[in-house]
Amino acid sequence: MSYVTCSAACARAPSTVIDKYLYSMRFSDETLHDIKCRFRRELENGLGRDTNTTATVKMLPTFVRSIPDGSEKGDFLALDLGGSNFRILRVKVTQDKKQPVQMESLVYETPEDIIHGSGTQLFDHVAECLGDFMEKQKIKDKKLPVGFTFSFPCAQTKLDEAVLVTWTKKFKVSGVEGMDVVKLLNKAIKKRGDYEADIMAVVNDTTGTMMTCGFDDQRCEVGIIIGTGTNACYMEELRHIDLVEGDEGRMCINTEWGAFGDDGSLEDLRTEFDREIDRGSLNPGKQLFEKMASGMFMGELVRLILVKMAKEGLLFEGRITPELLTKGKIETKHVSAIEKSKEGLTKCKEILTRLGVEPSQEDCVAVQHVCTIVSFRSANLIAATLGGILTRLKDNKGVARLRTTVGIDGSMYKMHPQYARRLHKTVRRLVPDSDVRFLLSESGSAKGAAMVTAVAYRLADQTQS
Ligand code: BGC
Ligand code: MG
Repeated sequence: MSYVTCSAACARAPSTVIDKYLYSMRFSDETLHDIKCRFRRELENGLGRDTNTTATVKMLPTFVRSIPDGSEKGDFLALDLGGSNFRILRVKVTQDKKQPVQMESLVYETPEDIIHGSGTQLFDHVAECLGDFMEKQKIKDKKLPVGFTFSFPCAQTKLDEAVLVTWTKKFKVSGVEGMDVVKLLNKAIKKRGDYEADIMAVVNDTTGTMMTCGFDDQRCEVGIIIGTGTNACYMEELRHIDLVEGDEGRMCINTEWGAFGDDGSLEDLRTEFDREIDRGSLNPGKQLFEKMASGMFMGELVRLILVKMAKEGLLFEGRITPELLTKGKIETKHVSAIEKSKEGLTKCKEILTRLGVEPSQEDCVAVQHVCTIVSFRSANLIAATLGGILTRLKDNKGVARLRTTVGIDGSMYKMHPQYARRLHKTVRRLVPDSDVRFLLSESGSAKGAAMVTAVAYRLADQTQS
């Protein structure tokens, strides 16, 4: 390739050189349509009785059958574990027109030794934090219903049972996979003996997000997270969910789209950088789509590209420093800062200077362009898979034009200056016969877990009386 061995005059990498260099990360609309179609097949495999066991995209039933109808009320606790923070909330739902939902919350640390420790340690920690929260709220003598947002793939046969399929993201806690997290948490609470809690529902963060947004917009039927991890849920017709009895109505399906590609179906799109990220991860061979698209590895992808380009003399006059070679030195928040339209280049210079590579102005422009390609690839991939879900919804409804709302949350989507706009634009191009409203979940997925709990509580109340 000529640009690798070119003379000093062209050794600096202008945008066109980088475009060529990262050709395999830039997708045409044709490729995106192809990914959309591949993903639709994955959805169908996950739903089918005969194909489910071997499907890579698991399509997990959630037992959430409807969004809130507004008649819910009560005083609830919500736990939120598995996102960027461990949070506990108190959510009061009233019939008050002006302010139907009141929330108070606290963020608790989850130390490194706990997310890589034992299940007992993890749930003792969760139970201890919950006790502390109840103490501070002066409700330790009450037995309140609890909704648990647990942001990992779980097999559910009812709302208040959730068997962890596998850890993802930064978590690797021993002795929890294959276990019901409600049982583990109940056991930890009982062992303490200083308070009681009634865990009524476990929900994935995507479901929580859909429910949170569904409270404000009844049309919301998809929930998406683009943060440390990525995933989506949507409302599927029960008659298409072979694993759940019944044909009437709909149920929320947690797609677990992060695992898309784990059977090799994205090999033609993965690059040497994606393979290197995967090799160095906690779960090699798993969550391959997530590793290309989520926020967890965005910075690291950029770093690997810069190392290679520097080695080939395309950046920093070939300077390579120990910092540049250190895993994790470029973070996703740096990518976001570098892509800011006004201060981006200044930020870029600061960040690269801290890595000791003495960047020129051209280097900064080039690195900014690399960041754009990597984050744009993520938005494109998510647009394609979301496009798959939207076309399925459209076919399910049998309408010529789909009108729907997508509830969405996650640090990548919220913090990156260009991400949301690019995603929206691409989705609208890939699914032309649609009016899609993207609704940012302002108060997170835990409010949604409380809403699910509120619905469950209302229904339980009806059956008792
Ligand atoms: C998990 C999903 C979760 C997503 C976003 C993924 O790694 O498997 O269950 O919804 O991250 O938090
Ligand atoms: Mg069915």
